[in-house]
Amino acid sequence: AEHIVPGPGRRRLGVMGGTFDPIHHGHLVAASEVAARFDLDEVIFVPTGQPWQKSHRQVSSAEDRYLMTVIATASNPQFSVSRLDIDRGGKTYTIDTLRDLRAEHPDDDLFFITGADALGQILTWRDADELFSLAHFIGVTRPGHHLADPGLPDGGVSLIEVPALAISSTDCRARVAHGDPVWYLVPDGVVRYITKRRLYRDASVPNS
Ligand code: ATP
Ligand code: MG
Repeated sequence: AEHIVPGPGRRRLGVMGGTFDPIHHGHLVAASEVAARFDLDEVIFVPTGQPWQKSHRQVSSAEDRYLMTVIATASNPQFSVSRLDIDRGGKTYTIDTLRDLRAEHPDDDLFFITGADALGQILTWRDADELFSLAHFIGVTRPGHHLADPGLPDGGVSLIEVPALAISSTDCRARVAHGDPVWYLVPDGVVRYITKRRLYRDASVPNS
């Protein structure tokens, strides 16, 4: 008889893309909740590449955003961080993220996690049709945004309610700039990293 070594089987991988400038508890709760509800083996956080053309605000360096994401996720054995988008460079398109992750994990199932605000823009994303062949999309509730199926292919998207955390990176940056606390909005290690690197201090830098 042939010796068939059973493989590890298909793994269920969540993908959480974001600028993470800084990562906050809204991101972490969304990832944790989706992991539990969809029985995911792992959630990969993927900080975006550095937009070379600054549109309307200065985004913190890729390394600072990457390290804050690592600090925030390091203690969770189900969470990991990928440098894919950062190392590719330039503006990140989700299609590239998913193509590269698919190539890295050809035998696994991908679940792309996105907040209600980002889901609304999904049809305007590059190569929308191919996106849905690469991953299942999971839209999560976010305070201040209406979660609705933006007319995606049948079965291509699930909408789920996650505990409401009215936290945004924009607000965290504004708080730091004004000298207001971000304790308990972002993980303790991220608060300390922001202070250490003196991030977001310049209130004259407009926020998005
Ligand atoms: P910014 O204010 O700079 O846009 P952000 O808080 O929206 O930052 P992003 O890095 O843009 O954070 O978001 C990454 C992903 O996380 C997006 O899909 C976004 O919708 C989702 N997300 C962010 N904050 C929350 C939250 N509080 N609840 C649920 N989803 C969230
Ligand atoms: Mg955002």
